[in-house]
Amino acid sequence: MAQCEVCGNDYDKSFDVVLNGQQHTFDSFECAIHALAPRCAHCNCRIVGHGVEANGTMYCCAHCAGEEGVSAIKDRA
Ligand SMILES: [Zn+2]
Ligand SMILES: [Zn+2]
Repeated sequence: MAQCEVCGNDYDKSFDVVLNGQQHTFDSFECAIHALAPRCAHCNCRIVGHGVEANGTMYCCAHCAGEEGVSAIKDRA
């Protein structure tokens, strides 16, 4: 049994995620995403997929990167 560090739920099917050497415990992927997923620098949504990285900044998609003036990135068709 372990407690989710986001919502505090004590759940027997909790799981651990190690990010940058730090261990985090969650009861659901929703909580894990809430705590760990980066945010798009343009629209501020959670980046759950691969996202797009340009100049060290994360975006959810090529459209958002383009809106911030980053060109030369295209979504993979
Ligand atoms: Zn939780
Ligand atoms: Zn975005």
